[in-house]
Amino acid sequence: MDKKVKYLFVTGGVSSSLGKGIISASLAKLLQGRGFTVTIQKLDPYINIDPGTLNPYEHGECYVTEDGAETDLDLGHYERFSSTPTSQANNVTTGRIYQNVINKERRGDYLGTTVQVIPHITDEIKRSIRLLGQTGKYDFVITEIGGTVGDIESFPFIETVRQMKWELGDRCAVIHLTLVPYLKAAGELKTKPTQHSVKTLLEQGVQPDIIVCRTEKHLTPGIKAKIAQFCNVQTSSVIESIDAETIYDVPLLMRDEKLDIEVLKKTGTPVPETLDLSNWEQFLKNLKNPKGEVTIGLVGKYVELKDAYKSINEAFIHGGAANQLKVNVKAISAEALEEQPAETLLKDLDAVLVAPGFGERGINGKIEAIRYVRENKIPFLGICLGMQCAVIEFSRNVLGLKGAHSKEFDPETPYPVIDLMEKQKKVKNLGGTMRLGAYNCKLDKDSISYSLYKQEMIRERHRHRFEFNNDYRDLFIGNGVKLTGINPEEDLVEIIELQDHPWFVGVQFHPEYRSTVKYPHPLFTGLVKAAWDYKQNK
Ligand code: GLN
Repeated sequence: MDKKVKYLFVTGGVSSSLGKGIISASLAKLLQGRGFTVTIQKLDPYINIDPGTLNPYEHGECYVTEDGAETDLDLGHYERFSSTPTSQANNVTTGRIYQNVINKERRGDYLGTTVQVIPHITDEIKRSIRLLGQTGKYDFVITEIGGTVGDIESFPFIETVRQMKWELGDRCAVIHLTLVPYLKAAGELKTKPTQHSVKTLLEQGVQPDIIVCRTEKHLTPGIKAKIAQFCNVQTSSVIESIDAETIYDVPLLMRDEKLDIEVLKKTGTPVPETLDLSNWEQFLKNLKNPKGEVTIGLVGKYVELKDAYKSINEAFIHGGAANQLKVNVKAISAEALEEQPAETLLKDLDAVLVAPGFGERGINGKIEAIRYVRENKIPFLGICLGMQCAVIEFSRNVLGLKGAHSKEFDPETPYPVIDLMEKQKKVKNLGGTMRLGAYNCKLDKDSISYSLYKQEMIRERHRHRFEFNNDYRDLFIGNGVKLTGINPEEDLVEIIELQDHPWFVGVQFHPEYRSTVKYPHPLFTGLVKAAWDYKQNK
C-alpha cells in the first residue's frame, strides 16, 4: 500500500527547457541526502507509446532503463543524480495511457459505460503514478509533467494533479517551475509571465505550493514577495533557480534556497537534522579543480545536436572528475570524415569515441576514424554501432574481406560480419522490439575490460538489432582481436579488444546509461585515464 508515500508534482510554465528534469533530480538528491528514498517519474504528453521511434532531431537521446524501457532523456538525469534505477513505470506517455484504456475497453472492463477523458484517462494516469508508490520502496514519488501548463496535450495530466491533491491533502505538493526574465532595456526582472502561468494553473484547479523561478539574475526579496503575493504562496515558497555553471551545481543551489525544507514543510514531514551531500561535494570539487585536461573526439551523426549524445557527454564528466581531469569533448561529424582526411580531423585528439546510431549516413566516416586510431594507437571506445564499425573496419583493412559490412547497411554483402540477431529475423513491428535492457556479460580475465570492472560477470544495457556474426569468431581471434566479453545465455560477442593496441575497446552495449555521479562508469574512467596517459607520452 502507498499510505505513507508522499507525491510531489513538478509542472512547468512560461517556456519549455527551463530544467524541470534537473530540478526534479536535484530535489530527489536533497531528499536522499536527508535519508529519504525517492523515485522520479516523467509523464510525457505526446502520443507516441515511447520515444524509441523518435529520431534525435525530434527528441534528443533515447534513454534505456535496466528493464529495457526506451524512455525520455530526463530519466538519465534522474539516475545520474540519484543512482536509483528507473524502469518502464518511470516514463509514461499519453500514447501509453490511451493504449491501456483502449485495451481495457476492448477487454470489457468498462462494459456499459461511455469511456471518457475524465474519469477513465485520468484514473489511468493516477494508476500509473500510484504504481510507483505502491512498490513500498519509496518515501517520495516525484512526478514531472512534461510540456508547459496551458498546452492542450497536458490537460489530462494537470487534471489528475488536481484530483490527487484533493484526495491526498498534505501528502501531496505541487512545485511549479517558471521563468522570470530579465529585460535589459528596463534593467528589471519581470514577474508577469510567472503570474500568468500560475493563473493558467489555477484555471485548471491547481494552486502550486512552491514556485521555482528560473532566472539569470538573483531575485531580490522584493521580487520574491511580489511573486508570493500574486501567486498565493508564502515568500519562503518562492525559490530562486539561477543559471548555473553546470547542472551539477543545481542540488547545492536548491539546498541554499531550502527547496527540500519547503517540500518537507508542505507535506507535513519532520525535517531531519542532517543533510549529507558529501559525495556530491567531493565530485564537484574534483570537477572544478582538474589537474589537467584531455581532448576526446566524439564521432557521430548528430554531433551538432546538444542532446543527441547526452548520456555519453555526462559520462565523460563523471569519468573526468574521477580522474580529476577536465574532458574537452570535440564533436566530429562522421560525414566530415568522408570528405577530409582522418588525420586532419583527429590528429590532435587524445582519444576517440565512436557513437551509437542507426542508418547508413556517415558510416564510412566512422570506419575511417577507427582505421586511423587503430593504426596510430590512439585510445578508442566504440559503443554499439561504434563497436560494429570497428568490426567492419578490421574485416576490410586487416582481414582483407573486401566489401565486408553489416547487413543493416548492405544486405547483399559477401562478408556479413555484423548480422541481424536470430530473434530479430521474425520481428515485424519496429517499436520496442530491439534487444533492449540489461543482459549479462562474462569478461575474460586477461582484458582491459576486466582490469576496469574488476569483476567477471557484469550487466549492461542494450539497444540494437544487429550483432557480431559468430561465423567469423575464429578468423578474428586468429588475427589479433580478443573477444573479451560474451553473453553466456545466448553466446553473443559483447566486447572486442585488440591485442596489438594499448587501449582499443568496442562494446555492443551502452555503458553511458549506467554512469552516475556516485558511480562513474569504469569504461569512461578508463578511457579518460588512457587519454591522459597517451597525452603524456605523445
Ligand atoms: N544500428 C545498430 C543495431 O541496430 C546499432 C544500434 C546502436 O548503436 N544503438 O544493431
